[in-house]
Amino acid sequence: MSFTKYIHQSFLEDPFHSLNVPIYPSSVFLFSDIEELINFVSKKEKKRFEYSRYGNPTNRNLELLITALEHTEDACLFSSGMSACTIPILAILEKGDHVVITSDMYLKTFDFYRKILKKYGIECSIVFPEIKHIINALQKNTKIVFTEFPTNPFYYVIDLETLSNVLKQKSILLIIDSTLASPVNCNPFLYGADLVIHSLTKYFSGQNDLIGGVVTGKKILVEKIREFNGYLGAILTAEVSYVLLRSIKTMPLRVNIQNQKALEIARFLEKHPKIHQVYYPLLESHPNFSLAKKYLKGGGCLLTIELKGNFESLKTFCNSLKIFKIGPSFASAESLIDPPYIMSHWDVPDEERQQMNIKETTVRISIGLEDTDDLISDLDQALSKI
Ligand code: PLP
Repeated sequence: MSFTKYIHQSFLEDPFHSLNVPIYPSSVFLFSDIEELINFVSKKEKKRFEYSRYGNPTNRNLELLITALEHTEDACLFSSGMSACTIPILAILEKGDHVVITSDMYLKTFDFYRKILKKYGIECSIVFPEIKHIINALQKNTKIVFTEFPTNPFYYVIDLETLSNVLKQKSILLIIDSTLASPVNCNPFLYGADLVIHSLTKYFSGQNDLIGGVVTGKKILVEKIREFNGYLGAILTAEVSYVLLRSIKTMPLRVNIQNQKALEIARFLEKHPKIHQVYYPLLESHPNFSLAKKYLKGGGCLLTIELKGNFESLKTFCNSLKIFKIGPSFASAESLIDPPYIMSHWDVPDEERQQMNIKETTVRISIGLEDTDDLISDLDQALSKI
């Protein structure tokens, strides 16, 4: 893979030839006279900024970098991964439209589709993340298919290329939340996705110290979304953009190491007598192993286990870990565990939780950058306490 473009990040000219992209902590950009202002509003002069809710040089540089990393046409930053998952949908869809989403998904995004969109007269079908189910759910008024790649927390991998070909013929947009893949492991736009979304909070940051999001893809769509966000104003600050630019330089190093560590740990856990099942896309036992091999350069830092036993086993395991900390999120330097039955799905009715395959003994594990041997020893000693 090419590390070069992660590191050489300057896309906009800087009068002082600064090596690093400068932070522009300014809400306002000035015009020297009325002629300059008229040139700007009549779009004759495009390389200017007016007000940071519409655009900021530090942010623009980051947008251009993400466009290059994802091989897309344009990008628009957002204040969080959630605003990047929701605002584009509100910008594109209208009352009476229909969307298809997949059942294994980050719960907040899932609830936005199944609960919030209803209020705006938008219908949603939820299907198992497999191409035949998606195609069966398409209707005359379907405008968007939205899925994660891979899905969360069971890492289903959809056949992107085949799906995008089918959807193109029907003029339906394919929107992929590629947060779990990161641009290091896959570029869904190259397989026909129209828009690609990332929570920048995860791999792009890698440090658990910020929240941000991005939508990247076809220029015509990104422009429409940017204009819509001019009303909603869910923007990233220049300061956060700068921190992201800094973190992105090490993203391929981090992701590649996390790919290796997670696969090694998944293999260890799969053989462990206290574990019922391990879900990791690049394990031969995963139902989508061959699609994962085709589309993913690495399986990422996340794996999900189902412990043998009951709720007490889960409590003993989680409370016995010393290196792994209990906390949401993933892709940071620190290894984390997240028992979704408690952390994210506590208020979800039992029947729904069962449909989602979330059990009392399910644990999502985010592998950080600590030594693999230390992480395996920690998991082993916690499992031995069950
Ligand atoms: N998409 C996925 C796949 C996620 O896991 C998350 C958060 O965990 C989000 C979107 C939302 O991102 P953020 O927390 O940055 O708003």
